[in-house]
Amino acid sequence: MSFAGIIVNNEALAMDMVFTYKVPEGKSVVIGQRVKVSFGQGNKRIDGFVVRVSDAAPEGVKNLKEISSAYPEVYFDEAKVLFIEKMRKKYLATYLDIIKLIIPRGILNGMTYKTSERLYVVKDATEKYKDEKYMAILDLIKKNQGQFIKADMVKQGFSLSSVNTLIKHGFIAVMSENEYRYNIEEYEKYAPKVLNKEQIDALNEINGANGTFLLHGITGSGKTEIFLDLIRQNIEEGKDSIVLLPEISLTPQMIERFKGRFGRDITIFHSRLSDGERYDEWHRVKSGKVKIAIGARSALFLPFKNLKLVIIDEEHESTYKSDMNPKYNAKEVAEMMMEENGGRVVLASATPSVESFHRAETGDIKLVSLKERATKGTLPDMDIVDMRDELMSGNRSIFSRVLLKKMKTALENKEQIILFLNRRGFSTFVSCRSCGYVFKCENCDISMTFHRDGSLMCHQCGARKYLPKVCPSCSSKYIKQFGSGTEKVEEAIRKEFPEARVMRMDRDTTRLKNSYETMYNEFKNNECDILIGTQMISKGLDFKDVTLVGILAADLSLNLPDYRAPEKTFQLITQVAGRAGRGDKKGEVIIQSYSPTDKAILSAKNHDYLGFYKREIEMRRMLSNPPYSKFLYLVLTSEKEEVLTKNIHLLGDILRKHLAKYANIILLGPSPCIISKIKNNYRWQLLIKGNFDLDFAAEIKGLVYETLKSSQKDIKVNLDINPNSMM
Ligand code: ADP
Ligand code: ZN
Ligand code: ZN
Repeated sequence: MSFAGIIVNNEALAMDMVFTYKVPEGKSVVIGQRVKVSFGQGNKRIDGFVVRVSDAAPEGVKNLKEISSAYPEVYFDEAKVLFIEKMRKKYLATYLDIIKLIIPRGILNGMTYKTSERLYVVKDATEKYKDEKYMAILDLIKKNQGQFIKADMVKQGFSLSSVNTLIKHGFIAVMSENEYRYNIEEYEKYAPKVLNKEQIDALNEINGANGTFLLHGITGSGKTEIFLDLIRQNIEEGKDSIVLLPEISLTPQMIERFKGRFGRDITIFHSRLSDGERYDEWHRVKSGKVKIAIGARSALFLPFKNLKLVIIDEEHESTYKSDMNPKYNAKEVAEMMMEENGGRVVLASATPSVESFHRAETGDIKLVSLKERATKGTLPDMDIVDMRDELMSGNRSIFSRVLLKKMKTALENKEQIILFLNRRGFSTFVSCRSCGYVFKCENCDISMTFHRDGSLMCHQCGARKYLPKVCPSCSSKYIKQFGSGTEKVEEAIRKEFPEARVMRMDRDTTRLKNSYETMYNEFKNNECDILIGTQMISKGLDFKDVTLVGILAADLSLNLPDYRAPEKTFQLITQVAGRAGRGDKKGEVIIQSYSPTDKAILSAKNHDYLGFYKREIEMRRMLSNPPYSKFLYLVLTSEKEEVLTKNIHLLGDILRKHLAKYANIILLGPSPCIISKIKNNYRWQLLIKGNFDLDFAAEIKGLVYETLKSSQKDIKVNLDINPNSMM
């Protein structure tokens, strides 16, 4: 008699445990197998996954149910079970959350192979069938063995009954074959480049050891060429590789380079794939046919057998941290995996995250630098325009005079222009247009958020004050909420340059499938003069005719209510500026800002990463922000405002008491979230800040669920360690 430990497909938190079932007499199951079990009092039949198999029944348990049936496919092995357990603990997740990451999405909803019935000639026609119509059918199929299904033959003008007759008498065989739903296009060959000295040195350093590397190389320094070479070597040694990119960097250009170099044995694994396509790609990897995956963070969980290299490009991007359950960080997971497999992680960026650079500085990971552009090109010239001056001179438009003038010249010279407007996040900060003063919290050094009742609030600590009538710094009355949209910019541009061909790329204009590719190609083919866009155009675009980049409002990211605001600003300016002057012509960048002396903006202008980093890490240290601490962010939501506020204050009191025994861990809040209501759900937050470990987080999780047990019907809990945004 044997017994199986099973994780069931039930989202309820109370069901997040291993259930034991009997394996039916004479049958067997293995770890990773999908099974059907009857569950609960109603004996509902649901799916489950085997995570343990043993000969002994667990002690004290009687009347175990039997597994109802088993599917043939096995999705993971014993080592992966350990991985599942580790991930569950680290990211305060459930077993099921983690299993869903590593199985093909969709199988729990019945997704399976798409098969088609393909025709093969297996016997030549005998005398009796040597008539014209039969011969023609056999002839065509024989020339195209396995290419046609019955419907194709009908399309060719043959009668279905003739085809069926030939099948019936054994001349044609019908084979059911798996079909791959992913369109495998051929790409033009992309020949290897002769690497320069800097690139070769970098390669050698990375090849010299296992572990984690930070590849810091300015935009256009040839990092991607290094990736390609690392992968080539890996393949030659029979090993698998994964390249993670932010979704928006997975441009046709990028795909061309990888497919053009390595051919079709690559999977491009991004979020626009259908469940069917994902299913097929997952199996192509499992079968060993594919040695390379390129994709967004979920590609990390593809079932490679011999994964030894994970490259994480644009490692500073927040997309590597998931906002949804399980709230994992792909950088951490990649390191965990490569430590286990004895492989390498390469974190690459022109603007490394402060956390990663700090790790390199302290020797935790190895730093590899590229300081020159790979082509002869130089970095663009950058200028900052003081928008306060513009206002004083009577210019109230979105564009400064100098930007307009440069645009005019570029258009005359038939060069292309990119205008960038940061619209991510939530811009509700208030500033003075005369002097640039921004209302900030005195405790937290982040911008305060404006509320309709006329108050300003810090959503980190809950501090509040009233918005004065005049600027506390210069007494101007011109204090206003900040913000402007890409549509407005487009309108204004069409007014200024009615002749110019203008294109707007943002979440609204790229919603349809392929609209991104279409716009991308139009711009590439010079069918457009001015590209206006958001984050979407900040990276991965390599167009040689772009000579002018305008950053319309650097202040938008600078005043995000987040301690990472200066870092985000530095990164954005550098990335966007990197789009200019990639061809023979020198690039130019105009940065418009109301705070032109801000240090993050100045460092970006001067291409001075180290200067930026040194100041920023000092700020982090002084304010005990990451990497010197962690945040445990707790959001409660409910349709019932009173139940919510009562409970979050109760929870706040309990946590505060609990935290008293920890010297360096503090509790901030409760306070309403910046986005205080979504779809009729009120939202409040608590923030724990300090240098805590996983056990501490697990303890808090337990305490939170215990405290809210009686109101769990009304309140939803969301826990996240070092979240991307706290809004
Ligand atoms: P990054 O990824 O650092 O932005 P890329 O790898 O995209 O840089 O390289 C920038 C440009 O320089 C690309 O057009 C690339 O083809 C070219 N390039 C890179 N390395 C070399 C080299 N060794 N010789 C010639 N051109 C190169
Ligand atoms: Zn002022
Ligand atoms: Zn505050």
